[in-house]
Amino acid sequence: MSFTLVIHGGAGNITPAIMNKEQEEQYTEGLKQALDKGYSVLHGGGTAVDAVVTAISVLEDNPLFNAGRGAVFTKKGLNEMDAAIMDGSNLAAGGIAGVRNIKNPIKLAKEVMLHSGHVFLSGSGASEFALNQGIEMAPDEYFFNKSRYDQWIEIRDSDFYQLDHKEDNLKGPLPNTDHKFGTVGAVACDIHGNLAAGTSTGGMTNKRFGRIGDSPVIGAGTYANNKTCGISCTGHGEYFLRAVVAYDVSCLMEYRGLSLKEACATVVKDKLVKFGGEGGLIAVDAQGNFDFCFNSAGMYRGMRNSKGEEIVAYYGL
Ligand code: ASP
Repeated sequence: MSFTLVIHGGAGNITPAIMNKEQEEQYTEGLKQALDKGYSVLHGGGTAVDAVVTAISVLEDNPLFNAGRGAVFTKKGLNEMDAAIMDGSNLAAGGIAGVRNIKNPIKLAKEVMLHSGHVFLSGSGASEFALNQGIEMAPDEYFFNKSRYDQWIEIRDSDFYQLDHKEDNLKGPLPNTDHKFGTVGAVACDIHGNLAAGTSTGGMTNKRFGRIGDSPVIGAGTYANNKTCGISCTGHGEYFLRAVVAYDVSCLMEYRGLSLKEACATVVKDKLVKFGGEGGLIAVDAQGNFDFCFNSAGMYRGMRNSKGEEIVAYYGL
């Protein structure tokens, strides 16, 4: 039986002009590590859910990415994280929003899916649940990252909030924005033809008021259904929420009979572009077909499957 794993590490203004050789090597290494760990779960007959959790956990542990350890800073200088996972075999789902000090938010999302009796937990309640379930916590220092901190310091006294991808904000372009990227996601099809999708993020630098993006919202940033596809999104969450991106791709396949590629292109390159939403997604269907689709300059991405194919890339096609 065949199996496929795709991952992303964020989409945005990713061009050769902002990456040097060393950075390219670091990102390649980070993406490959996640692919290899997730792949070995699938190769060993493990489930799509476990492959997704494994791959995302590796990315969360890597400070290069805006998730887990590398999460960006909020207006108050905190790290508040969102994550979700969905099992396409039974439409079970778990999401968490605005959590702090959770080492691997994707593991907590899985725990919510399996053991909370709910789908979506937030803030202090999610933390209480994490403690009850024995989820690993980490102190504030674990999440301190100099470059993300500097990124926040530049705008903390303004009302700007910044997508980790580019100079997006409430009030127009920010001066001197450095380009950092990094929400993470994974989608897998296992040997049984079951799909799963997960996404994990620190959200947007300088975000306020408990802002939640699309990543942990089932149907917006994350969705999986064996009948259609698994999807994990990355981009300006406000647009992805309003366009219900992940579910829209699934609906185009289910109700209009579009192929995976056609459905992804319709949503990302047509609907989202007209709407002004920048970003992209990764997708896999139950036959193991995959797609990377983005309307930004680039997207950190990777794929490894049972045919022996492997891709790691960042720039536009
Ligand atoms: N979509 C995420 C959010 O808006 C950000 C990202 O993809 O980098 O929170």
